[in-house]
Amino acid sequence: MSRHAKINDASSFWMPFTPNRDFAADPRLIVAADGMYYTSDDGRQILDATAGLWCVNAGHNDPLIVEAVQRQVATLDYAPHFNFGTPQAFELSTRLAGLFPEGLDHVFYTNSGSESVDTALKIALHYHRMRGDGARTRLIGRERGYHGTGFGGISVGGIVNNRRHFGTLLNGVDHLRHTHDPARNAFSRGCPEHGVELAEDLERLCALHDPSTIAAVIVEPMAGSTGVLLPPKGYLARLREICDRHGILLIFDEVITGYGRLGKMTAAEYFGVTPDIIATAKGLTNGVVPMGAVAVSREIYASAMERADTPIELFHGYTYSAHPLAVAAALATLESYRANEMFARVEALAPKWENALHELRGRPHVADIRNLGLVGAIELESRPGAPGARGWQAMKLAWEEGLMIRVTGDIIALSPPFIITEAQVDGLFDRLADILDRLD
Ligand code: PMP
Repeated sequence: MSRHAKINDASSFWMPFTPNRDFAADPRLIVAADGMYYTSDDGRQILDATAGLWCVNAGHNDPLIVEAVQRQVATLDYAPHFNFGTPQAFELSTRLAGLFPEGLDHVFYTNSGSESVDTALKIALHYHRMRGDGARTRLIGRERGYHGTGFGGISVGGIVNNRRHFGTLLNGVDHLRHTHDPARNAFSRGCPEHGVELAEDLERLCALHDPSTIAAVIVEPMAGSTGVLLPPKGYLARLREICDRHGILLIFDEVITGYGRLGKMTAAEYFGVTPDIIATAKGLTNGVVPMGAVAVSREIYASAMERADTPIELFHGYTYSAHPLAVAAALATLESYRANEMFARVEALAPKWENALHELRGRPHVADIRNLGLVGAIELESRPGAPGARGWQAMKLAWEEGLMIRVTGDIIALSPPFIITEAQVDGLFDRLADILDRLD
């Protein structure tokens, strides 16, 4: 029997964000992982150049995390956090509050980035209602933003394919323009010079809708899933100023940038811009157990506690909010980041990463290269009449060559675990250079 006999057009697994029929014909199966590598079902070592889906920041099978989860499952498999609680959930919250920017010191738990985003949006709406400002219902996202797949997230999100088959979505949502401007900013190293004026879009939307109707603005400080779009210098600070002027809450979706991806705990810290709410997930548990966390400002929490008209201050939560296995994984993950000084490692590695990545400039089809922290993107020229085909070919060739990369259309995104060595960085870019040379 072929090793892929179970994967065919009649397979029962409807795969997420995947061309299922193509996969059935040409599957890529993973059976184990350790450190920087996956093992494929045919026994090959595959370098994980994407930390899974931007989540395995500490590398695979980190012993601290594995042991913590094993211990936890043998002690307390599950406990509810509606009306009951576990000491560890309080401990984790205290630790997180100490790591998020000053003032963001209350944490609400979810199971994913999508849930964190929808939670953040709901808390923003709730906050204005608590203050007697319930006319503020409008939500502002951004073109090409990715905020997960809940109805809130796809409504404020700006990726057309994620929206167009799903009806009318949420009412009262508008979008800023995205900040991607290759004509002015191609091959920038770090954040681009041009485009701070795009933040003025928010003033335009305030004028259009009347700011007293706007509850919140949500952006990814660095947009990841849409192909690594960086904020122009000064852009995020400008958004903060405009929000402050008009009483609008600023939400950062840090599902990718949280937990060290830019060399700091958050992008908020990296950029020195503090939002009112931060949505996180992924790196919180190193991807080992699904979990998200939403950090909110003291003022938002206080307004709920002081002004709620019901004993339960927020009618929101999940069966698995603060799931004991997830909490154990998160505590161990934070400990691994601390004990192994992983964020400092990202900071130290970032210049080498940037230089090695930009060495690919001039290879066939390379239209732009972008980087920040331990994130990189290589934007390829699209094949005429076949957008995405070249990126797809690169992904498949990389897998054959023992590399996991992520592609969004014709953009290759790279975000390795923080434990990647300098030699592995060199090896990664050598192999990528070879793959680029072989693309049609
Ligand atoms: N927001 C951002 C910025 C993300 O990158 C993602 C996932 N890539 C999400 C939200 C959604 O997270 P999840 O897939 O865990 O729901």
